[in-house]
Amino acid sequence: MDYVIDPPPVPSLPVRGAPARFPVRRVYCVGRNYAAHAIEMGHDPDREPPFFFQKNPDNLVPGGGNISYPPQTADLHHEIELVAVLGAGGRDIDQDSALECVWGYVVGIDLTRRDLQGEAKKMGRPWEVGKAFEMSAPCSAIVPAGDIGHPDSGTIHLDVNGERRQDGDLNQLIWKLPEVIAHLSRLFTLAPGDLIFTGTPAGVAAVGPGDRLEGAIEGVGEISVVIT
Ligand code: MN
Repeated sequence: MDYVIDPPPVPSLPVRGAPARFPVRRVYCVGRNYAAHAIEMGHDPDREPPFFFQKNPDNLVPGGGNISYPPQTADLHHEIELVAVLGAGGRDIDQDSALECVWGYVVGIDLTRRDLQGEAKKMGRPWEVGKAFEMSAPCSAIVPAGDIGHPDSGTIHLDVNGERRQDGDLNQLIWKLPEVIAHLSRLFTLAPGDLIFTGTPAGVAAVGPGDRLEGAIEGVGEISVVIT
């Protein structure tokens, strides 16, 4: 195939214990999926239908590491999240078979320009400026579901400069992963290469240059990020 400009690189994530990488197609995110986080954001924790937004595949920061403080914000928040990685997809996926689509799992951080997101919410505007910016999605290496199964409980936490900021358990997810996949597949055609950030527990807060973020999910892995 000839292109009139050089094609952009394929965004991808490393896979634990494997030389080959996992190519990423789309990045979906679930909003407010832990009750305590919904409350801290000023919302009702009741099980209202899940809602979704997206980040760009090239916003991923594979493996974590140094991240430049993004422009146009004075309130950059961390959100530690379990990320599901799809090896299969489809439409109208039944929740009973949904986990068959999941190829593996990642520890991700949904970095958020909270001030820009808040302004967008207030004005009824889209969220991209708050969510889908450069280096906004650091992710660990993928651990295959073939190795660890499908975690539905276990600690999920994030420390900033050695101090615990977020502390939850995967069993606190309001919408469980099979339900998330079922809902999402009624809105979009899911496909191999899609990622789903499943939401964050309470304790989100601002970080700045010089801060070190260290997150972990029991049985899945760890991620470390330094804001520069
Ligand atoms: Mn999030």
